[in-house]
Amino acid sequence: RAKDKGRNNFQFYTAAMNQRVTERLSLESKLRQALASDEFVLHYQPKVELASGRIVGVEALLRWNPPQGGLVAPGTFIPLAEETGLIVPIGEWVLYTACSHIRSLRESGIDPVQVAVNISARQFESSRLVDLVSHVLMTSGLEASLLELELTESLIMQNPEEVIRILLDLKEMGLNLSIDDFGTGYSSLSYLQRLPVDRLKIDQSFVRDIGADPNDAVIARAVISLGHSLGLSVVAEGVSSAEQLTFLRENGCDEMQGFLFSQAVPIHELALLLQEDRKLLMH
Ligand code: C2E
Ligand code: MG
Ligand code: MG
Ligand code: MG
Repeated sequence: RAKDKGRNNFQFYTAAMNQRVTERLSLESKLRQALASDEFVLHYQPKVELASGRIVGVEALLRWNPPQGGLVAPGTFIPLAEETGLIVPIGEWVLYTACSHIRSLRESGIDPVQVAVNISARQFESSRLVDLVSHVLMTSGLEASLLELELTESLIMQNPEEVIRILLDLKEMGLNLSIDDFGTGYSSLSYLQRLPVDRLKIDQSFVRDIGADPNDAVIARAVISLGHSLGLSVVAEGVSSAEQLTFLRENGCDEMQGFLFSQAVPIHELALLLQEDRKLLMH
């Protein structure tokens, strides 16, 4: 009896495992197809300066628009793209598309704002990042000062010496650098001090419960003051209520990004938002 049961369990696991492998393989080939047939799209989420209320930059966020319809969020496919290495060609597409879109705002008479692009660890490993960035800036015609790269703490801490070397090259080119999801990884404070970055982005998990959880408010406040004492700008992510905004303003946070102001929107909608923003400024 016990033996039979064991066998059945074994068969059950095999079937479940087979199904997972099959699903992964099918998602992987769909992602390859998506890249080849231009099914990826970039949306842009504004970053707002708290002191002025103005849009001072945007973050490019990847979405997948498969032929059967329905936009797919990056959380469902980026991890597999990272594992398979597909994130390298996808990341090239993102970098080139973001720079071209922002550069093309000028043709509609809009002054471009800084665009931030998320970079994965695999893109650092391929060690062509510096060449890639300079090629993309040249072909898109965007100034280096309008491009920012967002890196996570875990990416940096995987290989800090190598990463610092590459970041120094990128800074030399005139790029902006930021640490994304700050507070969720394990940054060593001694490395943090040596990193040539411009901004810290407080992870949205600390922003979400600012009003409800006193610990999160303490962390948010500590990150703002840590950032400032290192001479960095601090951005709060995932700001979705007026209460959070008030807290951040009172505690000297520099910029905010979140649904309270705007979700990530297609480039033509971003152009409208930027036009509105400039009009407000003139009144
Ligand atoms: P992230 O870089 O931390 O981006 C911020 C995420 O928070 C975005 O999710 C954004 O839509 C979401 N968000 C912004 N404001 C709010 C808010 O007020 N409330 C809530 N609930 N969410 C908010 P999204 O677009 O789904 O992206 C998720 C993650 O996927 C990103 O986190 C980033 O790690 C990754 N990702 C997105 N695009 C790319 C890309 O082009 N390359 C790479 N390597 N990763 C990307
Ligand atoms: Mg980001
Ligand atoms: Mg983040
Ligand atoms: Mg994130």
